[in-house]
Amino acid sequence: MPELVFFSGTMDCGKSTLALQIEHNRSARGLAGIIFTRNDRAGQGKLSSRLGLVTDAVEVEDGVDLYAHIVDHLSQGGRADYVIADEAQFLAPGQIDQLARMVDDLEIDVYAFGITTDFRTKLFPGSQRLVELADRVEVLQVEALCWCGARATHNARTVGGVMVVEGAQVVIGDVTRSTDEIGYEVLCRRHHRRRMTAASARAAALSPDVLPVTAD
Ligand SMILES: [Zn+2]
Repeated sequence: MPELVFFSGTMDCGKSTLALQIEHNRSARGLAGIIFTRNDRAGQGKLSSRLGLVTDAVEVEDGVDLYAHIVDHLSQGGRADYVIADEAQFLAPGQIDQLARMVDDLEIDVYAFGITTDFRTKLFPGSQRLVELADRVEVLQVEALCWCGARATHNARTVGGVMVVEGAQVVIGDVTRSTDEIGYEVLCRRHHRRRMTAASARAAALSPDVLPVTAD
């Protein structure tokens, strides 16, 4: 039975690396896939992994019908044995419905990869729809770690290393940026709630008067 699988996790947990691994394993078996992505760190029309691998992909624009895209591809003699949708949190809920329809009507396996929640701990609309529709949700086992060593379960948005909790849901940035621009950092829930990033923890350690933290 073909299925819609949602591989979910925080930023930096190896989602795109797994997407590339699935692509590699299947193409090595002679299967042909279509890769969709949106706002990948490597630029338009790319699926890239933090480990340095990159492949071409179809950049999903607003309002594109993914189901129609596959039907067009097939009707022009193309093959699609499976579909990979990376950065699926950025897809619209209706586009997630189109992925489900590919599974049901075209009998194609669809593997979606995405961050579950945004920097305010709220579900991305695309991820919410995936949780609602997927045959399986897999939480990735390559766990990102908070600066304290605990399992990182939440994404923080930072400006100059300071965590912020207001702003637009989608601002493209990366966990490797460290200047005054917007960046992201993965944290455990405890430190996300306390808004304590690696930079602010270092600062706190250097000024003993703000310690100890006794709140909650
Ligand atoms: Zn922590």
